[in-house]
Amino acid sequence: MSNERAYNFSAGPSMLPLPVLEDVQANLLNYHGCGESVLEMSHRSAEFKEILADAESSLRDIMNIPDNYKVVFVQGGGTVQFAMVPLNLAVKSGKIDFVVSGSWAKKAYQEAVKMGFDAKVIASSEDDVFTWIPKITKDDIRPDADYVHICFNNTIYGTHFPYIPDTGDIPLVADMSSCILSEEIDVTKFGVIWAGVQKNVAPAGIAIAIIREDLVGNAPADIPTYLDYKVHVEKDSAYNTPNCFSIYVSGEVFKYIKSIGGIAEMNRRDVAKAKKLYDFIDASDYYRCPVREEDRSLMNVVFVIGDKDAEKKFVAEAKAEGLHNLGGHRTVGGMRASIYNAMPEEGVDALIEFMKKFEAENK
Ligand SMILES: *Cc1c(COP(=O)(O)O)cnc(C)c1O
Repeated sequence: MSNERAYNFSAGPSMLPLPVLEDVQANLLNYHGCGESVLEMSHRSAEFKEILADAESSLRDIMNIPDNYKVVFVQGGGTVQFAMVPLNLAVKSGKIDFVVSGSWAKKAYQEAVKMGFDAKVIASSEDDVFTWIPKITKDDIRPDADYVHICFNNTIYGTHFPYIPDTGDIPLVADMSSCILSEEIDVTKFGVIWAGVQKNVAPAGIAIAIIREDLVGNAPADIPTYLDYKVHVEKDSAYNTPNCFSIYVSGEVFKYIKSIGGIAEMNRRDVAKAKKLYDFIDASDYYRCPVREEDRSLMNVVFVIGDKDAEKKFVAEAKAEGLHNLGGHRTVGGMRASIYNAMPEEGVDALIEFMKKFEAENK
């Protein structure tokens, strides 16, 4: 076993910024001299209350979240949000319009159907294996829909919305699990933004939800207590015992992003990393990216060789060189390099060097 850290290209859970891990490690046994670890401390303690308040205010700061939006940390990851959003927002007509641009958007749609909502797919790129993002306009949306759901970055297929759909007065809900904090976003264009944290923020276990305040408090009284956004808003994300550690690391990551120059600087680095990799793939006649150029993700770079045995060999040999988890999602095959915020540019350089070598040896 090596003591060196690998470059982990996993789609999630994924790498965390090294300075944050080091700081967490330094404070693991005795958090800032309080005598306890965050892993052990009471969620009602003064220390944890400060951690929680700090995490929220740091997120508000870096994302420029207006005061009329609530921020909550909720357990259950992304999947619980698939149920929570309909229960809280689909309360007038019960109609929800979905843009199905990938597997996660489809899962959100299926969950709404399962719960008995009037869910409609208003656009889909499934026939082309989700290699592009549908363009929608107001005319595609049912005028009495309670909201429109999109998945802003498609983790599995490596696509990303190149535009924010104009939904008029109908709230737009975006799953930003795999792209939050990688680009500056005008929060006011959305009714709800939510993200599971294990792709670009912190260890798995929670989702962050940013909710326009008029969309809080409309859920029917008989929904499960935990699934009502209002409960989390009123109890400052500590209605029951929260995932203290994940909230803590989230806060540290927000502060780290602020310290390097905010999301604008994060985005500059992400664009540089992704451009390098896409440029290399596009210039190659061995590797190919199946995704339409204007819809490509900054975070999840999908590519293929077109020969399953060679792809399997690629993933195994890369692993042996410290480049981990480069296999594509089990449903699509090929390769996927997830280069989230915490992936250093050196990781992308190492991947490109490996790709050159592999091509020379196997072409
Ligand atoms: C990973 C992911 C999810 C699901 O997250 P879980 O926390 O595992 O439930 C949902 N949406 C997107 C876009 C994802 O990448």
